[in-house]
Amino acid sequence: MIEEKPVVAYFSMEFALEEGMPTYAGGLGVLAGDTVRAAADLQVPMVGVTLLHRKGYFYQRLDSDGRQIEEPVRWPVDDFLQEQPQRVEVSIEGRPVRLRAWKYEVKGVNGFVVPVYFLDSDLPENSEWDRALTDYLYGGDEHYRLCQEVLLGIGGVRMLRALGYTDIARFHMNEGHSAMLTLELLRESAQAAGRTEVTSEDIERVRRQCVFTTHTPVMAGHDRFALEHVRRVLGDCKPLVEHQHVLCLGTELNMTYLALSLSHFVNGVAKKHAEISRHMFAEYQIDAITNGVHVASWASPHFQALFDKYIPGWREDNFSLRYALSIPADEVWAAHRAAKRDLLVHVNRETNAGMDMDILTIGFARRATAYKRADLLFRDLERLRAIATKVGRLQIIYAGKAHPRDHEGKSLIQRIFRASEALKNDIRIVYMPNYDVELARLLIPGVDVWLNTPQPPLEASGTSGMKAAVNGVPSLSILDGWWIEGCIEGVTGWAIGERVDATAPQPDRSDRDAAALYEKLEKVVVPLFYTQRERFIDVMRHAIALNGSFFNTHRMLQQYVVKAYFE
Ligand SMILES: *Cc1c(COP(=O)(O)O)cnc(C)c1O
Repeated sequence: MIEEKPVVAYFSMEFALEEGMPTYAGGLGVLAGDTVRAAADLQVPMVGVTLLHRKGYFYQRLDSDGRQIEEPVRWPVDDFLQEQPQRVEVSIEGRPVRLRAWKYEVKGVNGFVVPVYFLDSDLPENSEWDRALTDYLYGGDEHYRLCQEVLLGIGGVRMLRALGYTDIARFHMNEGHSAMLTLELLRESAQAAGRTEVTSEDIERVRRQCVFTTHTPVMAGHDRFALEHVRRVLGDCKPLVEHQHVLCLGTELNMTYLALSLSHFVNGVAKKHAEISRHMFAEYQIDAITNGVHVASWASPHFQALFDKYIPGWREDNFSLRYALSIPADEVWAAHRAAKRDLLVHVNRETNAGMDMDILTIGFARRATAYKRADLLFRDLERLRAIATKVGRLQIIYAGKAHPRDHEGKSLIQRIFRASEALKNDIRIVYMPNYDVELARLLIPGVDVWLNTPQPPLEASGTSGMKAAVNGVPSLSILDGWWIEGCIEGVTGWAIGERVDATAPQPDRSDRDAAALYEKLEKVVVPLFYTQRERFIDVMRHAIALNGSFFNTHRMLQQYVVKAYFE
């Protein structure tokens, strides 16, 4: 297959494409999926590349104390993907590892197709160990991860060539995991010039082709491998040997620096995150393109129907959600009630929690990890109990997985279980297991308020609040990541506390933040919900009109097209 137009190759370690395909862990994969869906809608020629993840990230069970139990996911790959006949080879520790690709077609609103290829090393000619290399997303040890990144970056480029993609305008690295693709492009460039050594011309040529989106606001979050280790896996990789001073940090290969050094366009995922990244990587120019969500994928069926009725064309053009201000308040409320009913029926069936349609329902779902502070709401149980019994009743729905090695994250889940036990006579609280896209689609539109309590400045962007906005669910959030841009106090939602102007992690301010959260709930959000319903619905409409119309992947992709792809 030969493409007629130059394409953008979008590389991501994870992709969330469809319920039933466990090929993602969280926000990064959802962003990748929403990006290719936007490309298909806007007819931007793009092709996605990732690993197959035959065993997924993991299936999460929670025991009665909230202890997380992880199981490999089983999924029938050929029910979702079509095997391609091409095979390519990548050398790992001197062994040839063969790869095949499976294809998924993302169809846009007018039928335009963006394919995504899933690389798979599970072939009989590979050794047992190599066959398992594309099994687990973010599993295994550092060596496993390095080998996976070699397959994704180098194997990915080779597979695209084998599939007939000779004219690729841009290689977009969604986070540093795929940065090895630059090494393959350098090799290709030298080879095309009839050389074996890589020159600075090759580096310039590759740089013009590459785009890098960084997602991690702390140094410790970036993948690094000892150069020794990389040499053992890759063999004598010419570019690394000849240009170590450009491509490596001393004796380390830092995937972020590799991507930074070889990209002509680099961006952070929100304005604040770009600012932090500029401090972390002072010698690079870093732009900001704030993340978004694919509206048609995240609006509940009830809001889809409402938009179809009042804003025809919104699927082709997400900007038109601006007109949500003119949707009658009672119809917005009815659509929201319908989404809430879908959620509560599901929650009650699964947990027997007895959740009630008329109670203000707070939602919180994201990766269970320390900086997200899922338990901030439980800092002072008596204060929370007093709000729920004196100001207005509350019920709370949680979800989120902890990475298998994140012990702090796991104990966070247990703390929420203990708090819900302590509060059970006054506040119904459930923790739904196995947070995934399917649950997110029910949970986010179905709650009344979407809570987010990260410790600034660690939330690079966050996207679940954007999914909430599309469904008229206002955010109550710490001012970090996208919410710094999205929050208009009392208009699109509410801030917790003041903005912290820090570019590095700060001393713990959880007591102050919790106090601000209680204050805002008690004085503003709960009274508004129960006693000024009209005004509450007005906030819902503004969340859609001001934030849904902007924090979407149609806007995001157009910014990539103008600034990074076809500039
Ligand atoms: C949207 C989403 C995320 C990311 O949410 P954040 O707010 O960015 O933390 C993670 N997991 C699932 C299943 C999602 O749908």
